[in-house]
Amino acid sequence: MPPGILYVVATPIGNLADAGPRALETLRQADVVVCEDTRTTRTLLARHGIERATRALHAHNERAAGAELLAELRAGRSVALVSDAGTPGVSDPGALLVQAAHRAGVRVVPVPGPSAAVAAYSAAGFAADRFLFIGFLPPKAAARRKALEALDVPWPVILYEAPHRVLACVQDLQARLGGEREIVIARELTKKFEEVARLPLAEAAAWLQADAHRQQGEFVLVLGPGSPPRRDEEAAQRVLDMLLEALPASEAAKLAARITGAPRNLLYKRALQRGK
Ligand code: SAM
Repeated sequence: MPPGILYVVATPIGNLADAGPRALETLRQADVVVCEDTRTTRTLLARHGIERATRALHAHNERAAGAELLAELRAGRSVALVSDAGTPGVSDPGALLVQAAHRAGVRVVPVPGPSAAVAAYSAAGFAADRFLFIGFLPPKAAARRKALEALDVPWPVILYEAPHRVLACVQDLQARLGGEREIVIARELTKKFEEVARLPLAEAAAWLQADAHRQQGEFVLVLGPGSPPRRDEEAAQRVLDMLLEALPASEAAKLAARITGAPRNLLYKRALQRGK
C-alpha cells in the first residue's frame, strides 16, 4: 500500500467564509481530520456541511497522537491537519507531525490559506523586502526583556500578543525602541470588530486605552522597520566625506553605497548637501 498524504490545511482566523474551496475539498476527502480542539473544527465542518471523523492533536499529546497518525499514513490513509485558526505550525502545533511524516517518507502537501501574521502584514503597508516573525514574546519579564532587544532591526517585525498583555507590550516596545518607530495594531482581523491602526509607538498605549473594547479580542502587532544602527550611518558618512574630496557627488555616493551598504539615494542627497 503506498503511504497516504499528510495535508496541512489553513483554516479561517475568524470569518468562516475565508475557508477556500481547496481547503474544504481536502477536509471533505480526508480519511481523518486532525485538529487542536475538536469543537472548534466541528463548527467549521458543520458550517460547510462536512461530516468527517475528527481527532485531537495538541501541544500535550503531539508525540503520542503523532505516532498513531503516522502509522495510519503509512497504511495509506490520508490525514488533513488543521489548527484552531490560521495555518498549522505557525505558533500552533503541527510541526512535529509534519517532521515525522517527512522522516517516514510520507508526502506532505500544504493547502495554503489564512494566517493572522500574513493578513496583518499585508494590511500594514511597510515597504520592505523582508520581515521578522517573532510570534508570542515570552511571558516572563527577564526573557521578555531579552527578546525585545532582538526587535531593534531595520525591517518590520510581526508579533502575536494576548489581549491581557497587549497594553504592557506596546509600553515595553516604546521603552525599548523609542516612540517614533511605527506600529500597526491589527485587532480581530476578519471579524465584526476588526480594526487596523498604524501609528507611532508613542501613541499606541493611548489608542488601546481610548475605548473599553480596544484591549479585547485577538491581536497581531507589526512594528515598522527600525532605523539602521547609528554606527553604520556614521561610518557611511565618513566614507562619503573622504570620497567627496576626490570625486563628484554622484560617483562618491555610488562608491560609498557599494563600500558601506548604505542606500545610494540617501548618500547622494547628503553629498549634494555637503556641496552647498
Ligand atoms: N496559526 C495561527 C495563524 O496562522 O495565524 C496563529 C495561532 S496563535 C496560537 C493565535 C494568535 O494569532 C492569537 O493570539 C493572535 O495573536 C493571532 N490571531 C489569530 N487570529 C487573529 C485575528 N483574527 N485577528 C488578530 N490576531 C489573530
